[in-house]
Amino acid sequence: PDMTSAPPPPVDTHCPYCSLQCGMRLRPVEPARAGAPGVEIVERPDFPVNRGALCGKGHSAAELLSSRHRLTAPLVREGGTLRETTWPRALDRAASVLEKTATRYGRDAVGVFGGGGLTNEKAYLLGKFARVALRTANIDYNGRFCMSSAAAAHRAAFGLDRGLPFPMEDVARTGCVILVGSNLADTMPPALRYLREQQAAGGRLIVVDPRRTRTAEPADLHLQPVPGTDLALALGLLHLVIADGHVDEDFIATRTTGFERARASAMAHWPERVERITGVPVAQQRKAVELFTEAGTGMVLTARGPEQQSKGVDTVGAWINLCLATGRAGRPLSGYGCLTGQGNGQGGREHGQKADQLPGYRSITDPAARAHVGEVWGIDPDDLPGPGRSAYELLDTLGTDGGVRSLLLMGSNPVVSAPNAEHITERLRSLDSLVVCDVVLSETARLADVVLPSAQWAEEDGTMTNLEGRVILRHAAVAPPEGVRTDLYTLHELAARLGCEKGFPADAEEVFEELRQASAGGDADYSGITYDRVRKQDGVFWPCPDGEEGTPRLFLDRFATPDGRARFADVSHRPAAEVPDADFPLHLTTGRVLAQYQSGAQTRRTPELNRAAPGPFVELHPRLARRIGVGEGDLLAVTSRRGRALAPARLSGAIRPDTVFMPFHWAGPGRANTLTNPALDPVSRMPEFKVCAVRVEKAPAE
Ligand code: SF4
Repeated sequence: PDMTSAPPPPVDTHCPYCSLQCGMRLRPVEPARAGAPGVEIVERPDFPVNRGALCGKGHSAAELLSSRHRLTAPLVREGGTLRETTWPRALDRAASVLEKTATRYGRDAVGVFGGGGLTNEKAYLLGKFARVALRTANIDYNGRFCMSSAAAAHRAAFGLDRGLPFPMEDVARTGCVILVGSNLADTMPPALRYLREQQAAGGRLIVVDPRRTRTAEPADLHLQPVPGTDLALALGLLHLVIADGHVDEDFIATRTTGFERARASAMAHWPERVERITGVPVAQQRKAVELFTEAGTGMVLTARGPEQQSKGVDTVGAWINLCLATGRAGRPLSGYGCLTGQGNGQGGREHGQKADQLPGYRSITDPAARAHVGEVWGIDPDDLPGPGRSAYELLDTLGTDGGVRSLLLMGSNPVVSAPNAEHITERLRSLDSLVVCDVVLSETARLADVVLPSAQWAEEDGTMTNLEGRVILRHAAVAPPEGVRTDLYTLHELAARLGCEKGFPADAEEVFEELRQASAGGDADYSGITYDRVRKQDGVFWPCPDGEEGTPRLFLDRFATPDGRARFADVSHRPAAEVPDADFPLHLTTGRVLAQYQSGAQTRRTPELNRAAPGPFVELHPRLARRIGVGEGDLLAVTSRRGRALAPARLSGAIRPDTVFMPFHWAGPGRANTLTNPALDPVSRMPEFKVCAVRVEKAPAE
């Protein structure tokens, strides 16, 4: 056979979307027509996390590569209109507007906003770009909206934050799972199999969610609390654990500190009081404790439900307390874990995109961390700026005196995804200049002065860290379209224009080599991880110091606190920042649907997904619908103190009658985040996406 005509081999890589980072294989195909993706997605059954399974988002991901919506040339604003230009001109313009702002208003008037979907290399280089090339303190990212409450609570309790301190395979073997505020059936369906296997093996599943989702449907017990009250519910369950003698005294004595205060708080949350606050009947509280304590092992897994609250850190802390009091932590097949959301929700927070952190998941105020990173970067630690403003605070002060005047934004679409989104849109409009790197002309990119088109997941190399802390590698399988560049190239070129000729390589593996050094000795130590090792081992779990193996399971011998003991959180119930009243009598909670992803910038442009989920809706209970006189499909006006959104009614007995639900993937009149409350958690600075007060009525004919 003529080997010169043999097709190129398939390329193993990972899905561009959520934090499960499912393995997939890309097989090159003859483009049947101009603009076809050039690859098709086939199963990769040998990757352990998803064993070949993909959801519709993963299946259709190749469509985005050849989407007609893609940006294929840089754009600059001229006379109010975005016009195509060359890369050198666009880069010159971007560098000059950032520099001009720094000269006029000071370096902190330039801001950087990143994303939890960026590869580790991009997250790392973006953080370095902010601190070394721009010398600004003001860098943060949309991951602050996603998992920061769990990260803070995790670190407070265990001394180290890795979303799941065990691999997903352990979930299938634990005795009881309490899944709090997570709808895996819609967000990451291939992960459901771990729960199915767990139940098939005799394990118990308890789901806590104000909606009876398809995840809650097969559970042994579904607890349906009032939105924003799960802190009280966790305290109530701990109360029953203590009262009924299920406390693991030995574990508490040898492996924890601070139980007495946690006990005192739990004792103030007796079952009847908790029923009044949460709406969860006493009998169900008792049943939950019975199921959880009967099983010899158990896990509590949280997602955005308990985390996206103005008391998210305390709420997660209360669930961790339940694990600690029952000895369900730091032992095989037991523990607390956070199911991260965005593709690189885990890695994105470890490498210096966060306002308060340096690579290796180090605190930016720690002198030793500053000295180490300063040395790797070749700069005096005293010249390292920071900490800066957190994501919402950065966006909230855009264009104001003392705020950021010019912003570089990469891989994020806050016009749709930020809370109080109309206000944030106004703030973005008030900027002196906005530079956006993205794949498509998102709602945020439309406001930009310079738009730099980014290469996509299958067109570039880079590592991601999935929800288990497993570092995996995405491989380039096709070349980006002409006119598109990788974000690393963009940072390399911008840095050079800002006077940093060296230190910003455009090659992903070269960046990773430096990341390894910068992370060495930190919490998230990647120094022993290499591209080659990742390829051979189906991913490597951090921490992985140089010369050692990765660490799939944490805390089995000791927790990562100075004394090796886990710390109980000292927390008590408080209401959501906004509770229903006469003007706004209902709770609004927001979330995701199966066929869309985050702000929808990619999935709304994928025809197959858009057909499956074409627009926003308001889910409400038929009883509530009758009371306000609306029927299925009627256009509803949902009003909060921040604005009004319009979307059709979808009636469902699966939701509490005092609550309505809206998915947040859409812009325009149906944008759910027009309504959401930016009240921040005092520790994590996470906004309260999951609960606010609204009024719902039939939309007036216009
Ligand atoms: Fe992609 Fe997540 Fe779906 Fe897997 S579950 S295919 S990673 S979107």
